[in-house]
Amino acid sequence: MENTIPKEVIDTGNALVACKHEAFIVGGCVRDLIIGVRPNDWDIATDASPDDIRKIFPDSVYENDFGTVGVKTDSDDQTLKMIEVTTFRAEGTYSDKRHPDEVKFVKTIEEDLSRRDFTINAMAIDINPRILSSKSNEISKFAPPAGGQNSKLIRDPYDGQGDLNKKIIRAVGNPDERFEEDALRLLRAVRLSVQLGFSIEQHTKNALKKNSRLLKYIAKERVRDEFQKLILSERAADGIFRLEETGILEFIIPELREGIGCKQNKHHVYEVFEHNTRALEYAARKGYSLEVRLASLLHDIGKPRTKRGQNTEATFHGHEAVGARIAAAALKNLRFSNDVIEKVRHLIRYHMFYYNVGEVSESGVRRFIARVGVENIDDILKVREADRIGSRVPKAFPYKLRHLLFMIEKVRHDPVHPKMLAVRGDDVMKILGIPAGPKIGEILFILLDDVLDDPSLNTKEYLEKRVKDLGSLPGSKLAALAGEGRRKRDSVEEEVEGEMKRKYFVE
Ligand code: ATP
Ligand code: MG
Repeated sequence: MENTIPKEVIDTGNALVACKHEAFIVGGCVRDLIIGVRPNDWDIATDASPDDIRKIFPDSVYENDFGTVGVKTDSDDQTLKMIEVTTFRAEGTYSDKRHPDEVKFVKTIEEDLSRRDFTINAMAIDINPRILSSKSNEISKFAPPAGGQNSKLIRDPYDGQGDLNKKIIRAVGNPDERFEEDALRLLRAVRLSVQLGFSIEQHTKNALKKNSRLLKYIAKERVRDEFQKLILSERAADGIFRLEETGILEFIIPELREGIGCKQNKHHVYEVFEHNTRALEYAARKGYSLEVRLASLLHDIGKPRTKRGQNTEATFHGHEAVGARIAAAALKNLRFSNDVIEKVRHLIRYHMFYYNVGEVSESGVRRFIARVGVENIDDILKVREADRIGSRVPKAFPYKLRHLLFMIEKVRHDPVHPKMLAVRGDDVMKILGIPAGPKIGEILFILLDDVLDDPSLNTKEYLEKRVKDLGSLPGSKLAALAGEGRRKRDSVEEEVEGEMKRKYFVE
């Protein structure tokens, strides 16, 4: 159980108390302490004004208008480097459903707790040296005592402890009003429920369904942060099902919903929506990265729009290219970073790679790696694995795939990129006495093509001689050779896809 309050938090609270202020540990960290989870951030609420807080902690940052001051500590622990100290506040009206029109500071912790979203997030622990000693392990007292009794050391006006025991998420006060004030709470309810493995209390759940459309007013960055937390949780797939059940998914990634009721061919048990979500389930269970999880969830998002034919004979030609585009647009809309978007787009685009033992040569595997990038290979395999398991196919790596892994290992260190050649762009310019330009790129591409066929050719002697020969060719011939190399690299994928479409209806 991770239920001790770190020294940095106690010290920060004590510094406020020493200046005759009140200080409470508050919000999500109290909830986490009680259930024995390590909080990922620490919040302190106080009656001190932002100016007072900054005077007490000269090494602090105040960059917003919401009364929160970030107090720096010398901790090495990422979650403790900055402790957020916020003046007790109540939010005013929300005419735009996004931001309170004004921030109203209030006098008591009880008023502050009343503006918080859920009962389990509306509890506070008094950091008063008389009550809490930084030396002892008193926080262990905060674990809900046996028999459902609640700790007296916690300010808990909405019975958050009771709801933690019952494992439910319940809005503070009238759920409709709370969601109308700030619709991000809709998504927070679902995110918290899957992170904690809780259910959503019935009135709160009804209000989610009723108010889901309000999410469209919320700044996309805030939606992304919550959605990302949901995707990174262990029960991410339950989260997707729950978002759908409450009508919220429509306002996050509506394209995913096109897969509801979209039946697949004889190779699949699940319809597209469930298959996508099951793939995410597997990626989350394995603890894979955000990008692999997103690519798993979105890998077949292009299927509904590319579906041709019915029932067992349906095909989905080109769904990976269409899907890559749909996914990139959806993630852009949610303001994910370009790095995340590009990686996910790439993983989806190439998740269909084909491999049959004996049909694809070592140079074919090298070309495949050259095509998708050596840095993406492991993640592409993970998405493929999630795809298979998400179809209820029992083994993650059937023989064919294991053989491909073996081949990849065998050629993994072979040169697959112009940067890995024994002769570089500068050398080519020097040998031929020509300046930088497209010609250099073409020559490097032709050299790479030779080396992809036979890595033993990656020597200075061979490549320098080859550069001289190529240098004497007319420009049009050179361009044709480079184009040929590019086609060979890309054809690995194209031939294979053609084959796959003929034989396998495309998964
Ligand atoms: P996490 O474990 O991800 O940090 P959290 O519940 O602590 O979850 P934070 O964003 O750190 O979430 O917020 C801290 C506290 O602030 C919450 O526990 C809650 O009391 C309050 N809070 C946060 N967002 C809202 C909101 N939109 N409406 C009302 N209260 C909120
Ligand atoms: Mg928090």
